Amino acid sequence: MKGYVNIPKNIYVKRCKDCGARPIIALIDEGAYAVKCPVSDTHYHTKPGLIDLEDWNQNNPSSNDYNLNTMSTI
Ligand SMILES: [Zn+2]
Repeated sequence: MKGYVNIPKNIYVKRCKDCGARPIIALIDEGAYAVKCPVSDTHYHTKPGLIDLEDWNQNNPSSNDYNLNTMSTI
């Protein structure tokens, strides 16, 4: 991973279905990006290519509540 950028707060994205983290945009290769969880590479990430927030949102369907308390109960 060569680097990453945070997704601006005014852009709507769902949180990681596995851990509830807000995703980041990782620079995989020249001109290829992936939307991924910042916590673990094993959590869902989009295929390298264009920044595909739609794909991320579709694959993290249960994470649209922003309740971080669910993490502390594990
Ligand atoms: Zn995650």
